[in-house]
Amino acid sequence: SIVVTGATGNLGRFVIEGLLEQVPADQITAVVRTREKAADFEARGVKIAIADYNSPATFDGLFAAGDKVLLISGNEFDKGRVGQHRIVIDAAKAAGVALLAYTSAPGVLSAALADDHRGTEAAILESGLPYVLLRNGWYNENYTEQLAPVLQYNAVTQAAGDGRVASAARADYAAAAVAVLVGEGHENTTYELSGDTAWSFAEYAAELSAQTGKEIGYAAVSVDAFTGMLAGAGLPEPLAAILAGVEVSIEKGELAGTSGDLARLIGRPTTPIASSIAAALKA
Ligand code: NDP
Repeated sequence: SIVVTGATGNLGRFVIEGLLEQVPADQITAVVRTREKAADFEARGVKIAIADYNSPATFDGLFAAGDKVLLISGNEFDKGRVGQHRIVIDAAKAAGVALLAYTSAPGVLSAALADDHRGTEAAILESGLPYVLLRNGWYNENYTEQLAPVLQYNAVTQAAGDGRVASAARADYAAAAVAVLVGEGHENTTYELSGDTAWSFAEYAAELSAQTGKEIGYAAVSVDAFTGMLAGAGLPEPLAAILAGVEVSIEKGELAGTSGDLARLIGRPTTPIASSIAAALKA
């Protein structure tokens, strides 16, 4: 079987959809916390397994020898994600799966956000399982799904200076995961996945202006001001600090790498930020 955790998340949904185009539904298992959220998949014949990264027992016997597993990183920053992911890795190891793929972060990312990914990568290597590290760069949607305040104030407010982001659409990263799960010969490979083109926030603001007919500028603020803004918007202080740390990394160019790995894996160019903007404005 091909087994996907986090299957009811934004990325996981695209992965299951992509798999369904290439693999019979009964060879796909969606690992989810809430069965109802996966009702559409279940109706199409996808097998459903209920498990939680916080509960080792829920992963007992979930995997079988020979399975190809995609571990999609969790989003519970306060729960010790390395420990959570280790529960999945241990269960995969006990079952003797054929492949364990993991959605990681760019290798050069020094921001604290990457700590959990580095810890998880180490645990995967330690397990000795055949692995694929899908070091995902930034999603276009990290920005295009946050347009309400931008359109309200006609300003893109970030703390990344002139830094550039080689982002791609979630669907692109999902297609790469599908390629690795369905294809052959990816064992023990690390892919640095990112968009084909790196853009700056000034360019992003200019593209928004062009598509909306409004005059939208880039307001470059300090990291402290940005942290305060996020906290003011209701984010818990530790999470605000983690996200602000990413701005520092962007300014340093750590998310600007264009290895070409993503386009090569999916066999087509990645989705430009302009396309994701257009899709978001239409939605
Ligand atoms: P989502 O937040 O949409 O999905 C997270 C998934 O993880 C959900 O399916 C969620 O389950 C699952 N999950 C969280 N905690 C647990 C748990 N304790 N047990 C089992 N499952 C759990 O994120 P995306 O799909 O957009 O992205 C996937 C991952 O990529 C994120 O979780 C995050 O680690 C990372 N990410 C990367 C970004 C980038 O730009 N590269 C941006 C944002 C996130 P449920 O559906 O039940 O909630």
